[in-house]
Amino acid sequence: MSFTDREQFSKRIRRVMISEEELHAAIAQAGAEIDAAYEGKPLLLVSILKGAFVFLADLARAVSIPCEIGFMQAQSYFEGTVSSGKVEITLDLTQDISQYHVIIVEDIIDTGRTLSLVAEELRRRNPLSLRILTLLDKPERRVVDLKADKSLFTIPDAFVVGYGLDCAEYYRNLPYIAEYEEP
Ligand code: 5GP
Repeated sequence: MSFTDREQFSKRIRRVMISEEELHAAIAQAGAEIDAAYEGKPLLLVSILKGAFVFLADLARAVSIPCEIGFMQAQSYFEGTVSSGKVEITLDLTQDISQYHVIIVEDIIDTGRTLSLVAEELRRRNPLSLRILTLLDKPERRVVDLKADKSLFTIPDAFVVGYGLDCAEYYRNLPYIAEYEEP
């Protein structure tokens, strides 16, 4: 798929599900909660690329206490049962996380499989603490026992794009979360 036409690009957006204003209000609140909970502690915000890059950029600016930022990218493979698999970390953190309180900043939890493997890997590295903050949560789709410590929006089982989330690498630049319609 290749898009150069603005009209074709817009046609697939069924509706705005979460507006820019709603996103920013929820993120401001999440930032204030992080400030209160982690004041005086070494904090590392870990974003899982690519989908969470926009959320991380806004969240980091809503946090006013000192913190570091890290990026990871992971590829997961699943065979047989839906709840077991392997994860390959294709981009890793540079920090030794045993020195930090870590918050995983995720875009969306769907089946939960990839994030549960990434969280397991990070737990193995003995961070001072580990929490999961997700922008979006689709609990109906979960196949593994994974719960975010905080989720900003619970959404129904629909395919969404925008605000970092893609369809074939497009739509990440939309400033809101939209429901995508297959052509
Ligand atoms: P999980 O391992 O939880 O099934 O996979 C989560 C990943 O699948 C997310 O990080 C995201 O990349 C992708 N994903 C799941 N649901 C959606 C969705 O509705 N829209 C988009 N664009 N990606 C999704």
